[in-house]
Amino acid sequence: MLDDIRLISEAELKDFIDKSGEKKYRYEQMYRHLWQLGTASFDEMIDIPKAFRQALSNRFSINRIQIEDKFISRDKSIKYSFLLYDGERIEGVLIPSNERVTACVSSQVGCSLSCKFCATGYLPLKRNLLFHEIFDQVIVLNNESILHFERPLSNIVYMGMGEPLLNYRNVMESIARITSPKGLNFSPRRITLSTAGIAKMIKKLGDDNVKFELALSLHAADDEKRSRMMEINDSNNLQTLSDALKYFYDKTATRITLEYIVFDNFNDSLEDAENLSKFARKVPTKINIIEYNPIAEVDFCNAKEDKFNKFIAYLERKGHIVNVRKSKGKDVNGACGQLALKKSIHRI
Ligand code: SF4
Repeated sequence: MLDDIRLISEAELKDFIDKSGEKKYRYEQMYRHLWQLGTASFDEMIDIPKAFRQALSNRFSINRIQIEDKFISRDKSIKYSFLLYDGERIEGVLIPSNERVTACVSSQVGCSLSCKFCATGYLPLKRNLLFHEIFDQVIVLNNESILHFERPLSNIVYMGMGEPLLNYRNVMESIARITSPKGLNFSPRRITLSTAGIAKMIKKLGDDNVKFELALSLHAADDEKRSRMMEINDSNNLQTLSDALKYFYDKTATRITLEYIVFDNFNDSLEDAENLSKFARKVPTKINIIEYNPIAEVDFCNAKEDKFNKFIAYLERKGHIVNVRKSKGKDVNGACGQLALKKSIHRI
């Protein structure tokens, strides 16, 4: 297989241009095609001489991810299955609202963390995505957003398959290309990275002084309950996480989003709300209450309406910023990993 041109170094590409007898400015043209326009093939680079395009395609490939399937929900969100160059699959979602179109992107094929409520948690980790495969999801979803909603993406969330902080280098490189003025020039403030909670890497985000938003999938503010749902809590307990979030905040001055699904008879009592309130007060935060998109593998379901409302009212009385996020794409397996999990079950 030919090397993906996006994986070779600047020096190598410049050398190739030079040895092909081409002008130095071809490098800037190539860069613009690859990282600003997201051009999918050498043939489409029509401002580059045909002979050089041929030389490029004899030596390199552009392994752009492909849309394998797409499912449009009644609520207008669109779920995508993407095929990668090696036959692996990942998922992405487009979520339109009045003022936004949000792309949810994946960072790994499968996941090593096995969170009980998550479809991807039931898939083995196959591999990390390369930075250009994450970048491609943004390019493809942006094109799809223009096609279906007549406007480009306004927000990007790293909340699809995989734990982004366990693929740190590729995730950071993808964000660098997405936000660079020489790349997509997307505002980092419109990008959110969501983590299940890897304390050491949250601190590293602080050391790297990132400008994007950080969200923690919390879901329980009591170690015993959280560990029952998310094994990662055994090695990254709430105290460690809260220390890491404080460190992150001190370095970046960025308020952290806490994500919380209120599960029926699990974490929906006023005592749970009080635990959440105490945790949320340790560092500047806002709380996103997320409606659950149930999966067949486990019998978690959303809290009853009455308890749910009391839970929210309690947090608001305590002065927290609380947003309630409706689940999207329920009719199209919108939660991350649901499509892939179904396919793996079918294959069995
Ligand atoms: S919630 Fe995130 S970290 Fe947990 S299993 Fe799912 S994809 Fe992995």
